[in-house]
Amino acid sequence: MKIDIITLFPEMFKGPFGESIVKRAQEKSLAEINLHNLRKWTTDKRGTVDDRPYGGGVGMVMMAEPIVKAIEELKTKESLVVLLSPRGKVWQQKKAKEYSQKKHLILICGRYEGIDERVMNFIDEEISIGDYVLTGGEIPAMVLVDSIVRLIPGVLEKPEATQNESFSDSLKLKIKNLSADRQDLKLMLEYPQYTHPEDFRGLKVPKVLLSGNHAEIEKWRKQKALEKTKENRPDLLKNDNS
Ligand code: SAM
Repeated sequence: MKIDIITLFPEMFKGPFGESIVKRAQEKSLAEINLHNLRKWTTDKRGTVDDRPYGGGVGMVMMAEPIVKAIEELKTKESLVVLLSPRGKVWQQKKAKEYSQKKHLILICGRYEGIDERVMNFIDEEISIGDYVLTGGEIPAMVLVDSIVRLIPGVLEKPEATQNESFSDSLKLKIKNLSADRQDLKLMLEYPQYTHPEDFRGLKVPKVLLSGNHAEIEKWRKQKALEKTKENRPDLLKNDNS
């Protein structure tokens, strides 16, 4: 997969993209990530990318011309052009899965008060990473890239790691199979995990996990996943009357 990121701050990406799984995906040539400074597509000496908003108001707005020029230069028939914006659809695991199957993503990072609305005519999707406002689209772009790249086949050494984690379809299906009354489940959060030691400051690992009884362990995990979802994300249990 190729990912082109259009930003005013390419240096910001060095740390997150230079470590761990995203770094390995690039080394294995499973992900090619290119950072482009938007100022490359400006025409004046100062590299101006913003101007005052029509109709008045505080702050500056990013001009359409440099962004659209960048899109036009980078876009191919296989590209999906994505604008990071708090006004976008909220990013979810199922979208990460969908994007991980694309050949080419172009991510556009906004700054200032946002972007001239006419850029929307050149965008395929507008994505938000949550209901809060950040100073720029760079951190949201990093969030998208991280969540997408780990789902590209071959990136994780143990791909099954992504199968039963929070928000995955397979974890949801497991719970559905367990409980006939949970057929309306949307998604699930993962069950709790423990590692050594067995006794940490008097806090014990649940006995069932030490039992070696896999059927009982599965049952316990599903129950705990349901409890956690109910506690923190009741919106995922559509008609939870219990
Ligand atoms: N004035 C805008 C509004 O109220 O919707 C906010 C602009 S914000 C300060 C500047 C840029 O940060 C946005 O253009 C966008 O690219 C990025 N950004 C901020 N919060 C975001 C979020 N929750 N998800 C995705 N991008 C975000």
